[in-house]
Amino acid sequence: MGPPGAGKGTQAARITRFCGIPHISTGDIFRAAIREGTELGREAKKYLDAGQLVPDQITIEIIRERLKQQDCARGFLLDGFPRTLPQAEALDRLLADLGSNLDLVLNVAVRPEILLERLTGRRICRSCGATYHVVFQPLQLSGICDRCGGELYQRSDDTAETVEDRLKVYTNQTASLLEHYRRRGLLKEVNGEQEIDAVWMEIQRCLRSLC
Ligand code: ADP
Ligand code: ADP
Ligand code: ZN
Repeated sequence: MGPPGAGKGTQAARITRFCGIPHISTGDIFRAAIREGTELGREAKKYLDAGQLVPDQITIEIIRERLKQQDCARGFLLDGFPRTLPQAEALDRLLADLGSNLDLVLNVAVRPEILLERLTGRRICRSCGATYHVVFQPLQLSGICDRCGGELYQRSDDTAETVEDRLKVYTNQTASLLEHYRRRGLLKEVNGEQEIDAVWMEIQRCLRSLC
């Protein structure tokens, strides 16, 4: 959990490598569908472009299908899901049906005033999906990915205008979910305002008993 730009994707890549589990990002799933021009992609695009949430019914169905896949049998990391109370409740039911449950909910906490710079400076590799930042995680050679030589791009919703809408959506629809998990004793707070490596150190301490 965490607002847009908190560092969820950056830390998720490390967690999934460390624990050997799949990284399930609803944002990545929607962007892939848009790239491929599928029906889901055409529907989702309207919402992503506007900085609004894709309807719960569509999003929940995607997660239901994804969690059934064999690679999730030994655990998985959800990034960007759930984002609404109905999604969280659907996830609880889905996991119960699968005989599974959540071990831990991590919240990467970052104050809103820091998020705009993080989001507008974000760059992503077209080939391998690695995330960079023009100031905080710069490239060795300008324009190409350090890891694979791929071309970098800026997400079309990482503009100042859309970011404002996304932050409002987070405050109005997602932030209250933290309470859902805090009450159940599943929530651990991580200070996301530190450097990337320091955030990762803190997360590793939270994971100690899990993998
Ligand atoms: P961020 O980096 O802002 O956290 P994501 O890549 O997680 O962004 O999400 C990008 C967009 O995809 C969101 O603004 C929203 O339109 C859509 N999206 C992602 N996850 C969900 C979800 N769980 N429910 C509804 N819409 C979602
Ligand atoms: P989210 O998935 O939560 O939207 P990302 O992991 O994509 O966030 O991070 C948003 C941007 O901020 C990226 O450009 C990333 O390189 C950068 N970033 C991530 N974590 C940090 C951090 N701890 N300090 C500074 N910049 C960061
Ligand atoms: Zn790359």
